[in-house]
Amino acid sequence: MAAAAAAQRPASPRPTGIAAPETGDPGTADIGGPTELMRSTRPSAAQAAEQETTAGQPPSAHGSATGSERAAPGSLAAAVEVPTAVSRAKVSRRLTRPAQGCDREGLLKGKKALVFGVANDHSIAWGIARALYDQGAEVGFSSMASLIKRRVRPLAASIGSTFVEPCDVRDDDEIRRVFERWKAREGNLDILVHAVAFAEKEDLAGHFADTSRDGFHTAFDISVYSLIAMAREARPYMLPGSSIITMTYYGAVKVVPHYNVMGVAKAALEATTRYLAADLGPSGIRVNAISAGPVRTLSAHGIAGFKTMYGAFAEVAPLRSHITIEDVAGTAVFLASSLSGQTTGETIYVDGGFNILGLPVADE
Ligand code: NAD
Repeated sequence: MAAAAAAQRPASPRPTGIAAPETGDPGTADIGGPTELMRSTRPSAAQAAEQETTAGQPPSAHGSATGSERAAPGSLAAAVEVPTAVSRAKVSRRLTRPAQGCDREGLLKGKKALVFGVANDHSIAWGIARALYDQGAEVGFSSMASLIKRRVRPLAASIGSTFVEPCDVRDDDEIRRVFERWKAREGNLDILVHAVAFAEKEDLAGHFADTSRDGFHTAFDISVYSLIAMAREARPYMLPGSSIITMTYYGAVKVVPHYNVMGVAKAALEATTRYLAADLGPSGIRVNAISAGPVRTLSAHGIAGFKTMYGAFAEVAPLRSHITIEDVAGTAVFLASSLSGQTTGETIYVDGGFNILGLPVADE
C-alpha cells in the first residue's frame, strides 16, 4: 500500500463505528482507489512511458525527450510548457510564468522548491506545494510517470509551474536525472519536499510478523532510502539556509494497528532525518520531518481500517478536529523559511496534540 504510509491513529478505546466524513472521498475514484494506486506505482518509468505514448502522450524520462519537450499539440502541457531547450533558454530561468506573479510576496519570496509526491489534489505534497507557492516560492514537481499527464501537470499548471519531471524513486538514475534537469533549469534549490511512501497492501493488514522480506525491502526502499538518495543529489545545489522536509507518522514511535511495516519504515525515516541533519548541517542545510495526523489521501486508504481510525481521531485528539493538508502545509512553510533557521533533525507533530495522550479516549 501505499504509501500507505499513511496514517493511522490508534482507535478510540470505545467502539466508534465512525463513518467516513461526508466531504469528498480523497480522489480514490480518480485513479481507481488505493489498489490501483499501488498498481500505478509498480510500472517502471519505461512502462509508464509506454502507456503515455500509447495514449498519444509524450514519452517519459526514459524516452529521448521529456514530456515537457514533446507535449501533445493543444494539450495543457503544450500550453504551459516551454517546448525546447533553446526556447527555454530564451525565456527566463523562472519556473513560473510572469503572468502568474513572479513578484509575489511572502515568507518564501524568491525561493525555489522541488516537491516529490503529488498524486492528486488531496496529496499532502500538493497542499505543501500550494502553500509554498502562496508564500512566494517557485515550485517544481516530480512524481510517478503514470501520474504526470492527468494529475500532476494540470495541478502544476494551476500555479504556473512548468517543471514537472517523472521519477520512480526506486531508481537512482531517475532521481539523479530530475536533479540534473533542475540544475540545468534553475541552478540552485532552496526547498526539497519528500512526500513519498509505499508498502504492499498485504503488509498493511494482518500480522506484522507475516511481513515478507520483499515487502520490507520495498517499503524501506521507496519510503526511506529515497530520502537519502534525494538529499545526496540535491546537496550540491542547496545553499546555506536551504531546507529538506519529509513526511512521517506517529506509527513510527507507537504501535498503530495495521500500520505494520510502514511504522518501522517511518521510524527509520525519522532516524534518517537526524543523520542527514547532522551530515548536511555544516553545509547550512536543514532536514526535518513533519509527523501528520491522519489525512484522507489515496495512500492512506490503502491501510486496513483507515476510515474507522480516521473517524475516531477527531473525537480524541486534544484539538478535536481532523488534520488537513493545509494544516500540514503551514508547518512546511515554517520549516522551509528562515523562521526555523536553527531547527534541524526534528520531527514536528501536526496532529492536534494526539501524540501527547497516554490514553486516547473519546468524550462520553
Ligand atoms: P499520496 O498517495 O497522495 O502520496 C504518496 C505519493 O508517493 C504518491 O504521489 C505516490 O505516487 C508516491 N510514490 C509511491 N511510490 C513511489 C515511487 N516508487 N516513486 C515515486 N513516487 C512514489 O498520499 P499522502 O498521504 O499525501 O502521502 C505523502 C506522505 O505523507 C507519505 O510519506 C505518507 O506516509 C505521509 N503521511 C501521510 C499521512 C496520511 O494520513 N495521509 C499521515 C502522516 C504521514
